[in-house]
Amino acid sequence: MATVQKHIIVIGGGPGGYVAALRAGQLGAKVTLIEKKFIGGTCLNVGCIPTKSLLHSAEVLTSAKNAAANGINLTIQGVNWETVQTRKQGVVDQLVNGVEGLLRLGGINVIEGAAEFVDSKTLKVVKSDESIEELKFDKVIIASGSIPAIPPIPGLEGNDDCIDSTGALSLQEIPKKMVIIGGGVIGIEFASLFSQFDTEVTVLEAMPKLLPMMDGELTQFLRKDLDANGVKIITDAKVTSVEKSNGQSLVSYEYEGKVEKVSADKVLVAVGRRANTSDLNLERAGVNQDRGKIIVNDMMETSVEGIYAIGDCLGKTMLAHLASVQGEVAAENAMGEKVIYDEKTNPSCVFTSLEFAGVGLTEEQARELDQEIVIGKFPMTSNAKALIINNGDGIVKIILGKEFKEVLGVHILGPRATELIGECALAIGMEATVEDIIATIHSHPTVTEAFREAALDSEGRAIHKPN
Ligand code: FAD
Ligand code: NAD
Repeated sequence: MATVQKHIIVIGGGPGGYVAALRAGQLGAKVTLIEKKFIGGTCLNVGCIPTKSLLHSAEVLTSAKNAAANGINLTIQGVNWETVQTRKQGVVDQLVNGVEGLLRLGGINVIEGAAEFVDSKTLKVVKSDESIEELKFDKVIIASGSIPAIPPIPGLEGNDDCIDSTGALSLQEIPKKMVIIGGGVIGIEFASLFSQFDTEVTVLEAMPKLLPMMDGELTQFLRKDLDANGVKIITDAKVTSVEKSNGQSLVSYEYEGKVEKVSADKVLVAVGRRANTSDLNLERAGVNQDRGKIIVNDMMETSVEGIYAIGDCLGKTMLAHLASVQGEVAAENAMGEKVIYDEKTNPSCVFTSLEFAGVGLTEEQARELDQEIVIGKFPMTSNAKALIINNGDGIVKIILGKEFKEVLGVHILGPRATELIGECALAIGMEATVEDIIATIHSHPTVTEAFREAALDSEGRAIHKPN
């Protein structure tokens, strides 16, 4: 007897949605993916990929500026911003085409349009040609992503100098002066990006610390590095207004009880993102939410059986790799498997010129949880490859449980940190102990050796630094 094919609808074609659709297709579902704007979502079109392409161009410029110190004499004739932008768009287009091809080959039916719930078994889709279709489903996976949060600062609205990250990615020219409101990941990556292109950058952060989710000690080191590269960072700064003045925008902020002002050609607002769920009519389906953030269990299922939600629309940790993993989990559960989503191996990366990455508990989090810990550290100055690449800027910090010496967290500032963190995530996932790290032979000369040395340091036996 032939089995009836399940119909799974995925709302949103970002890294959460397109991965969920492909996985459900692999498992034998009939899959419809509804996307209202662009396949690839925020990540491919206006997020991870375009920022990293621009950051790569910035890195090339920085390397060229430092070429003489490496024995290469160069004359820099300037930056062709149009080419920088064209290259960025070329990378984006190639990846989007690639995903579209994968969806085609995976037999996924893609509908261009905006979906909303009619009830818990029906969706209405307003298609790009303005026709309307109602679709029934066995299961649905919501992956509608997030949008920038706009703070209620007087003068922001209607001021065309004030932009969000999408605006900052497609500027026609490199700004001379930029104020960035918010010292989170977006703010700090753009600060690194534009300062390398010689923009005078000021970051105004409301809290005492930058990068809320990253290890505090290493964040301080990164702050010093940004500072040394000309980024002016002001924490504990409360922005009170923005106004146009002499063709520029004047940003007023309170700092240490006084009102200060800084002017800029562009003001980048990067104070966080919020779940993009207001157009979905979730209440008609009976899906529980908390101020727009969809609530799910550890199988990614919402309060309504058969309705799953993944990625940024949960309004929690907003990362592409996390959305994709959640997409796989939701698709597998929608197809009858019983898979639990576990975030403990989730790395956070900041793609500044001095890269920063972490996985697992930060030192602050471990202490808040009253965990008894042992810490090992190793400076990049003592790592041969880091010395070759960037004169040894950075540090590796490993956090272990005191009793069993299991790896609880690893935080890396330095060259290739965002690549190295994969090994550390695996260590946490496999519940590796310090002895497992020490017993693993790391190739020489590589930056990975610094991870093993940090593990040795936690035992008071680092080789390449005095104990
Ligand atoms: P999205 O990628 O936002 O996709 C949601 C999709 O749903 C969109 O295409 C939207 O059009 C569609 N949609 C919404 N509503 C409907 C509807 N009603 N009907 C049909 N379609 C709908 N993360 C990283 O891990 N690494 C990075 O380096 C990184 N860099 C970033 C840089 C920037 C500037 C920004 C803004 C974000 C960055 N992120 C990064 C975060 C990352 O982009 C997001 O976490 C990720 O895109 C979330 O994936 P998602 O599938 O949940 O949502
Ligand atoms: P964020 O939450 O990381 O940081 C926002 C910052 O703005 C915080 O430090 C906050 O204290 C500050 N802030 C809030 N209101 C303020 C105000 N009125 N004035 C001054 N500062 C204020 O958010 P984001 O940087 O906008 O990034 C959004 C999401 O995108 C994040 O969740 C992040 O995970 C994701 N993202 C990831 C990457 C990456 O993985 N490399 C890169 C970019 C974005």
